[in-house]
Formats: sequence, structure tokens, C-alpha cells
Amino acid sequence: MKQLKDLLRPNILSLKPYSSARDEFHGEASVFLDANENPYNAPYTRYPDPMQRELKRRLSELKDLAAEYIFIGNGSDEAIDLAIRAFCRPGIDNIVTLTPSYGMYEVAAQINQVACIQVPLSDNFRLSADAVLNATGEQTKIVYLCSPNNPTGNLLDREEIYRVLKYFGGIVVVDEAYIDFASSPSLTEGLVSFPRLMVLQTLSKAWGAAGIRLGMAFASPEIIAVLNKIKYPYNVSRPAQEYALKVLSREEEMRRQLSEILRERSLTEEALQRLPFVRHIYPSEANFILVRVNHANATYRYLVEQKVIVRNRHSVSLCEDCLRITIGTPQENHTLIKALEEMKP
Ligand SMILES: *Cc1c(COP(=O)(O)O)cnc(C)c1O
Repeated sequence: MKQLKDLLRPNILSLKPYSSARDEFHGEASVFLDANENPYNAPYTRYPDPMQRELKRRLSELKDLAAEYIFIGNGSDEAIDLAIRAFCRPGIDNIVTLTPSYGMYEVAAQINQVACIQVPLSDNFRLSADAVLNATGEQTKIVYLCSPNNPTGNLLDREEIYRVLKYFGGIVVVDEAYIDFASSPSLTEGLVSFPRLMVLQTLSKAWGAAGIRLGMAFASPEIIAVLNKIKYPYNVSRPAQEYALKVLSREEEMRRQLSEILRERSLTEEALQRLPFVRHIYPSEANFILVRVNHANATYRYLVEQKVIVRNRHSVSLCEDCLRITIGTPQENHTLIKALEEMKP
């Protein structure tokens, strides 16, 4: 098994990070004249905590993980990008992802001039560890998996994920943006046994705070230290940190919304089932449903005319004639179903 220092880009390994005023002194003091802030305009006159300590303390309780295992970013998209920048040499290394899956892994790779090898999911969008392992090579630094997967909604088989972790020598990122909606627990419980595992979560989905841009990566303290070293010093704004703490203090409210969304998911599935032009509803462990219809493009255009916007996934591989429908409020779901029931064939 490769050591982390053998996987990292040499320039990142040797990088001496920027040290901000708030890195050099954090703690209690009465006069702060160290960061060139305008002293007026409270409460946002001051730079935020670059290491988001208070937020990490709360997440640490919530996730039952020590703070050194937690990275906080400007959305989980930041962690997706930072991992590539930390490990993949432009023009040389590559990443392996699945298809269909979340599009940001490939885009982040392309921005960094890193090749992205896409492995098709097998029947019913299942993960084959062998297919992934066969696609990896000497230059593969990261495998990105998404579970529950977007846009298909299913969980990837845990044993297959463990097989990738066991036999692939690089970093395995498991994106759990939708894990709170799923019937099985997070992979964070495997972090101690798998030092090359990175688990991504976000406040954008179940926690209902997509607007503040706050994502999390959970990984070994060595990996977290690397992400912290290369992130922008003040990557998470003060309002975002404050609002995140507020959201995370209302766990019961989140659980209530979650059960409402899951109930609505079942009701929406049942209603879709009755529509003659619905060919298949893929089982979902997330807050959206992938549905195969007779004519996705026409159905999508019709819904837009009705001012109901879903995601047309027709052009995505293995998703021909599929629409991805987010579960909304009961009223919104009702509007969608009513519009579909009134659609002329
Ligand atoms: C929505 C989503 C995210 C969330 O990204 P943020 O940058 O945290 O908003 C991450 N991964 C997947 C697969 C998603 O669908």
C-alpha cells in the first residue's frame, strides 16, 4: 500500500501554506489590529475563523468523529476539486468515476487537466468493484463513488465499495450528499480502518441549506491536513459558519422534514406508477426519483410550459428517456402529478 506522501503531488507535499493573521493568532484578546480590517461594520467586520473550530466541534458531536477528521469547504464541490489538486499531476494522472453519476468529478478533473475515466454502472445501476479496479492504472490517484448515486438514487453496494478500498492503492472518495435520506448508515464508520477513504457530505440537501454553500469531507487527519493546507485561507464565510451552527442545532426539525420528504417520496412514486407513459421508476434512497417515461424530451418541455421544472437526464448515458424529479413540498408534488395526469399523449 502506498503512503500518502507517495500519492501526493510533489509540489503539494513540499508546499508551505499561506499563514493568515487568524492562523497566527486565534483566541481571546481585546484589541485586534492584525488583519487590516475596518473596525466598524459589525458583526461582519472581522475575518471568519479559517479553521471553523466551533462548527467542527458541533459536527464532531453530531458525526461522532474527532475534529481532526473533518474538513469544511465552500460546498462539497470545494473538497471534490481540492482532492484532485492535491493528488493528481496535470497531464499525467487520472481519476476513475462511474457513469451515470454526479457531473462535478469530471468537470473538476478537466479544469485541472486531469483525465477522467468513466466506468459504466452495471444492471440496475450497480457498482462492480472489478470493473472499477480494471479501469484503474499506475496513474490513477482517486476513485470517485457517489452513494446514494445522483441521478440514479440507489445506494452502491457496501461490500463492493469495501473491495475498491481494499484493492485500489489510491484515494477513494465516497460522496454521501444524500446519505441522510438513505436506509443505511454513513461510511464514516470505516474511516479508522481505511486511511485512504474520504467521505463527502453537505448541508445542501437534507439540512436544507444549499444557499450558504457548506460541505464537509471526513478523512484521516493526514488527508484533512493536506486539504487545509491548500484551501483558500478564509474559504467559509462568517455568515455561512454562523448559519450552519444554527441549522445544526435544529436536528429534530431536520428529522421532521426528512420524514415528510420520505413520505412524499412514496406518495409521488405511487402516483407516478399510475401514469400510462411511465415505464420505470428506479428505487430511490435519496430525495429525488429517476423515472423512465415514453418521451422524456416532450414530457420535459410540456412540464416547463406548465411552469414545473424537473431535470431532463435523457442525454446522460444509460438514462435515455429519464427525468430526475426532486421531492418538494406536498403542494409542489401535487402540482407536478396533476400536470402529468393532464398531459395529452
Ligand atoms: C448536490 C450534490 C452535492 C452537493 O454539493 P455542494 O457543493 O455541497 O452543494 C455533492 N454531491 C452530489 C452527488 C450532489 O448531488
